[in-house]
Amino acid sequence: MSDFVIEAPAVVALSVAGTDAVFPVRRVYCIGRNYAAHAVEMGGDPKREPPFFFQKNPNNLDPSGEFPYPPHSSNVHHEVEMAVALKAGGTDIPVDQALAHVFGYAVAVDMTRRDLQGEAKRTGRPWEIGKAFERSAPVGPIQPVSEIGHPDCGRIELKVNGELRQEGDLNQMIWKVPEMISHLSEYFELAPGDVILSGTPAGVGPVVKGDSMEARIEGLGSMIVNIV
Ligand code: MN
Repeated sequence: MSDFVIEAPAVVALSVAGTDAVFPVRRVYCIGRNYAAHAVEMGGDPKREPPFFFQKNPNNLDPSGEFPYPPHSSNVHHEVEMAVALKAGGTDIPVDQALAHVFGYAVAVDMTRRDLQGEAKRTGRPWEIGKAFERSAPVGPIQPVSEIGHPDCGRIELKVNGELRQEGDLNQMIWKVPEMISHLSEYFELAPGDVILSGTPAGVGPVVKGDSMEARIEGLGSMIVNIV
């Protein structure tokens, strides 16, 4: 075995509820506009068009409960989302076999530099600068399927300083979890450790330093994230 010429980067690992074991992350896929009411508020069309995805980096996932307000933005939004953690992968996974690939689910927030994302949209540039920045994906512990099953309905909400900002139901997803896994697997080779953020309900909006967010999904619990 060869020595690394520099220190090898650490494996990003998420805690698993009820155990000392951790879940190693390989890739992070995020689906866009997957709740009709959010598609409308972003100027999109809520009809069932093919899903689209972007990626964040594994080390953008952050379980610390703190979100450092990023530089060069003055409009940073919260998007509460259910994260889907895969224990198995493959290509061309049939919809009716997709859920067998899921290890568990977690509460997450797809933090978005809306100003920089909007500029990227206007200029036809990639979204990375608005989406895949440092600590841009606060995430809670993974709840294993063995404990909670596969949540396909239930309230999803986000409060800022105790005030309700986002609310919806997991059953409002335009593309359901098995469909998004199947679709992704037609374009990418999925693998154990992949995480999918499944889209956000309506009510996205800005946060400022000093705010405290509480993200909650029925059956998965809640997560506090302080903006610092
Ligand atoms: Mn999102």
